[in-house]
Amino acid sequence: MDAMNCPRCRKVFVKRADPLCPVCMKEEELIYEKVREYVKDHPECMIKEVADACGVTVKRILSYLRDGRLSTSKGMHGELLCSKCNKPILTGRMCEKCILETNFMVQDMKNDAAIKNRGQVYTKRK
Ligand SMILES: [Zn+2]
Ligand SMILES: [Zn+2]
Repeated sequence: MDAMNCPRCRKVFVKRADPLCPVCMKEEELIYEKVREYVKDHPECMIKEVADACGVTVKRILSYLRDGRLSTSKGMHGELLCSKCNKPILTGRMCEKCILETNFMVQDMKNDAAIKNRGQVYTKRK
């Protein structure tokens, strides 16, 4: 079994799927719950306000939003922006339009690969 240092408390723990040791994971979970509850009660709050109220950093709130773990009906007053076009978004990393565009691009690439593969199979069989 692999052991690793917890990046949060520096304690050694047995490596598993979680990035932190069990104690820290539990604490992180509690912090997340607190943030989520606060945002639920204050849907029009600013990120800074949530951070202050819950005793966490603005960066952490942003990462919750980007991971899609947190969302607000008002989109945190446009504080979270699409990573592609900089349009204000409610949650995640990109706006719906950019997500669609990206999905199309991925789909195109897959189609290209499929066509190429078919071509290879064809030449092999010849
Ligand atoms: Zn830890
Ligand atoms: Zn966008």
